[in-house]
Amino acid sequence: MATETWEWGWQWRAACRGEDAGLFFPPSRFEPKAERIVREGKAKIICAVCPVRMECLEYAVRTREIHGVWGGLNEAERRALLRDRPLDLRLVD
Ligand code: SF4
Repeated sequence: MATETWEWGWQWRAACRGEDAGLFFPPSRFEPKAERIVREGKAKIICAVCPVRMECLEYAVRTREIHGVWGGLNEAERRALLRDRPLDLRLVD
């Protein structure tokens, strides 16, 4: 999810610019699983056509973003990605 600080050039081309950030991040209240799946599904539809998806995912993995949908993956999916990477790649930041 592109933040509002715009410190990375790729964010200017993000498909989520102007979209509801609430699709990409969980609410501050408890979110039932069914609601989370629908919310994340809507976010992932936007990510699927995003021209900077790989840049976004790489950023989120490198900075260990713990919340939200980035690069089309939610928190658990990014953790699984990190867990499944070879050890030498986990050490590269
Ligand atoms: S991949 Fe998704 S979260 Fe990342 S910039 Fe694109 S639309 Fe936003």
